[in-house]
Amino acid sequence: MSQFHRQSLVAYGQPLCETIADRPTPRGSEVLVRVSCCGVCHSDLHLQDGYFELGGDRRLDITKDRPLPFTLGHEIAGIIEVAGEAADGATIGHRVAVYPWIGCGTCAACRAGDENMCSSHRHLGIAADGGYATHVLVPHPRYLIDYAPLAADLAGPLMCSGLTAYAALKRLADRPERGPVLLVGLGGVGMMGLALARALFRDPPFVADIDAAKRTAALAAGAAQAFDPSDPQARRAVMTATGGVLAACDFVGSDKSLQFATGVLARGGKVVVTGLLGGNFSIAAAMIAIKAMTIEGTLTGTLAEARELIELAKSGKIAPIPTRARPLNQAQAALDDLRAGRVVGRTVLTA
Ligand SMILES: [Zn+2]
Ligand SMILES: [Zn+2]
Repeated sequence: MSQFHRQSLVAYGQPLCETIADRPTPRGSEVLVRVSCCGVCHSDLHLQDGYFELGGDRRLDITKDRPLPFTLGHEIAGIIEVAGEAADGATIGHRVAVYPWIGCGTCAACRAGDENMCSSHRHLGIAADGGYATHVLVPHPRYLIDYAPLAADLAGPLMCSGLTAYAALKRLADRPERGPVLLVGLGGVGMMGLALARALFRDPPFVADIDAAKRTAALAAGAAQAFDPSDPQARRAVMTATGGVLAACDFVGSDKSLQFATGVLARGGKVVVTGLLGGNFSIAAAMIAIKAMTIEGTLTGTLAEARELIELAKSGKIAPIPTRARPLNQAQAALDDLRAGRVVGRTVLTA
């Protein structure tokens, strides 16, 4: 039996370390995928910490129901290596993106197709072992999406940062037909959002980030105009440039980013929030009605949306975003660089 190398979380708040186990044998509908690459996501930092910041001194503990050692990583592209006897449709050697947001399959959310919202989920890299490894075990071939002829280092990140951005942009409904959208936060999800907005919407988007290097990268990738939300004049500048924004995505999810995004809305405007950075947001309650404002949260996306997104990418309409590949044994260094804000675009680990 061949071996299975993983970069494992062995204690919260501690560096990942390599663990070696026997390669798992898929049973029933299970499929063993050999990992070609796995994207490094900002949420992996929260999982390593074991909590989310809620603002003030409050934290949301997320250490429960996850036996250690545990393998992070949910942006997986790989090759089908072994399939269980009931894994119909799984073809050995096929290149597949792995939809990681796998639910229990029986609750109301799962029955409606919203496995990403399942409360007793088996999300890969979150509740079940993920892709910072040479192999990942997937419970059913329905979660595997053929991505050829796309590159693995695009297909993997499409399953989280791409899907999150895509689902957020869809929830803006028809507002982008009436003017440019505003994208706040230009990390991996934000840059993916920019590439998708360029593919889906008529007008190039406005963008905002406190980091000058990220603003420069966004302008190079086709943003109409870039703003620094830490500049006290930024709100006025956005209002002057747009007359008020009808559609915004907050890919940061902090008190400051949401304050900025809601502060530049036109009447009838909407902010879709995907970011998880933390903090405590407050707003004058009357402004919600006066501005006929919508604030909506999203959590990744559905399997159907993941398939739509892969098809969109195959059409060639999504411009590539900067991506750096690093070997699997540099997983911790990649997380450290992400935490320190030293990453422009995406990082993928290659097994
Ligand atoms: Zn993610
Ligand atoms: Zn469920």
